Amino acid sequence: MLTFKDLGIEQIINACGTVTRLGGSPLRPEALQAYQQASLQAVALEELQTAVSNQLANWTGAEAGIITSGAAAALTLGAAAILAGNDPAKMDCLPHTENIAHEFIISRDHRSGYDHACRASGARLIEVGLNEVVSGAGVRRTEAWEYEAAIHGNTAGILYVYSSESAPTLEEVVAVGHQHSIPVLVDAAGELPPPSNLKKLIASGADLIAFSGGKAIGGPQATGLLLGRKELIASALLQMLDMDDHPQLWKPSLLDKNELRGMPRHGIGRGFKVSKESIMALMAALECFLQEDNSQRMATYAGMLSDIKNQLEKASVSSHLVWLNPETIPKLHIPTEDAFEVCENLRNHTPRVFAGHSLLNQGILTINAIALREHQVDPLSQALIHCIESE
Ligand SMILES: *Cc1c(COP(=O)(O)O)cnc(C)c1O
Repeated sequence: MLTFKDLGIEQIINACGTVTRLGGSPLRPEALQAYQQASLQAVALEELQTAVSNQLANWTGAEAGIITSGAAAALTLGAAAILAGNDPAKMDCLPHTENIAHEFIISRDHRSGYDHACRASGARLIEVGLNEVVSGAGVRRTEAWEYEAAIHGNTAGILYVYSSESAPTLEEVVAVGHQHSIPVLVDAAGELPPPSNLKKLIASGADLIAFSGGKAIGGPQATGLLLGRKELIASALLQMLDMDDHPQLWKPSLLDKNELRGMPRHGIGRGFKVSKESIMALMAALECFLQEDNSQRMATYAGMLSDIKNQLEKASVSSHLVWLNPETIPKLHIPTEDAFEVCENLRNHTPRVFAGHSLLNQGILTINAIALREHQVDPLSQALIHCIESE
């Protein structure tokens, strides 16, 4: 069997976290088993996604949910669902939206490279708010009334990027949206753990929420979840599925056929297909994620980081553990003289090490243990010592 080595690909130590660039999180063994099991049988994908929707509703409290090919795909599909609703003519037009309401309101400080996923549907982002805290000009961030002031005839939805620090709160934005019948699409891709965020975000009343399957859930890297209102989830599903069937034979299972004026063709999400194997693998991973003791898991990561910290200390390299909440991922911060150079040297070291690089500008290397294997703790510590000492 062909291996990475046969291809001349060297394995790396991923000390960076569940980043896509480095292959996401380690796949749970249960997910791999479910993948293999699912590969042995044939099922109808639309029926499978509908059954999955019911199971996701049970687990999360959402009305409905589907498995997508990632949180980014979930954002494109979620926006497409909001734009087209259950109209096959509108589904067929996307991403061309000149003739339909297509604006999504977003707070300026929620913008990121990931909003391209929403824009790919044909949605156009309208920015509101001024983040005076970051610009150093004042004390205010975006306020809920600013979303309201931007709503007009061409508004289709609101795109909200959730983090524990997002402002205004999701609840406030949902209240504004719903006062004007404008659905709220939430990017919460990396907001697990804590697992409680699943139910919490759904309880906010947001219409659609996207999560990654390949981050802390530990499913296949190219999977995600779109959870939310049933009619929107049904629209998203139709725009992702292979729709080549005779209308008279087609039996949609997530919505009533009479609600549609016709059978949609292949939609904008046709390229985001998810295999039955990936669907079952993510469901297996999610079940484990929901059942496990999250704080115990986080403590295991903190233990690995403490081990690294101790090894560094013996070589007179100082570091500090940053772990503000026992339910969230701990990090190890290592201040260095020339963080960019150390980071680069680590990548060229044997074994190659990819350290967290989000604080390099502040002269800090970050170590995240979520994608680290126990046996990598010692070689990682030695690589860190070697690259920092040779500075
Ligand atoms: C990771 C991430 C995404 C993309 O998720 P995928 O599952 O990789 O498609 C989108 N938005 C944010 C904020 C993320 O962190």
